[in-house]
Amino acid sequence: MMRIGLTGTPGVGKTAVASILSGRFTVIKIVDLAAEKGYLGPIDDEFGAKEIDIESLASTLEKEWQEPPENTTVIEGHLSHYLPCDLVIVLRCAPHILRSRLDQRGYPEWKINDNVEWELLGGPWNEIGSDHVPWIEFDTTGSRPEEICDMIQKSLDSELEGTESSSVLDWAEDIGGS
Ligand code: ADP
Ligand code: MG
Repeated sequence: MMRIGLTGTPGVGKTAVASILSGRFTVIKIVDLAAEKGYLGPIDDEFGAKEIDIESLASTLEKEWQEPPENTTVIEGHLSHYLPCDLVIVLRCAPHILRSRLDQRGYPEWKINDNVEWELLGGPWNEIGSDHVPWIEFDTTGSRPEEICDMIQKSLDSELEGTESSSVLDWAEDIGGS
């Protein structure tokens, strides 16, 4: 079985998808994994969240994850693409929809802007190259979490080729359109 990192900008729907996937797979939140390994820092005043020492977590797991897991395991969190997974699933969302999701969540304006900008620039693709590990990308803009889970399941069932880098979503094409 394999380990799958489920990543994407805050608000794309990772937790919604993960909660459905938890009926089929072992699902772990990256913060819980970090806490368990002792790599979760104190609450950061500026961001209001606990900071994960992702480099230490990744190198610890590199050693611990020599053997494949018994069950397919999904590690959910916007830093999970840093972990030594067998596959990375990147969820994406059109920036204007992402903005409304984060707004509904009650995020402060600056935090909404930071995240929308991050997504606009490519989300996790800001940090990883397409040569990293096999990865696939799903657009959550117009699909319900259940539909995204079905698409994920289909990809896992088929011979997994991974996404061609040419098909990485580029929201720049949306700007000025619509
Ligand atoms: P993340 O874990 O990536 O930060 P969440 O799963 O918490 O994102 O979803 C953020 C917000 O967007 C929630 O209010 C959720 O109900 C909504 N949402 C999540 N996925 C979708 C989707 N596919 N379509 C519409 N709304 C969604
Ligand atoms: Mg979440």
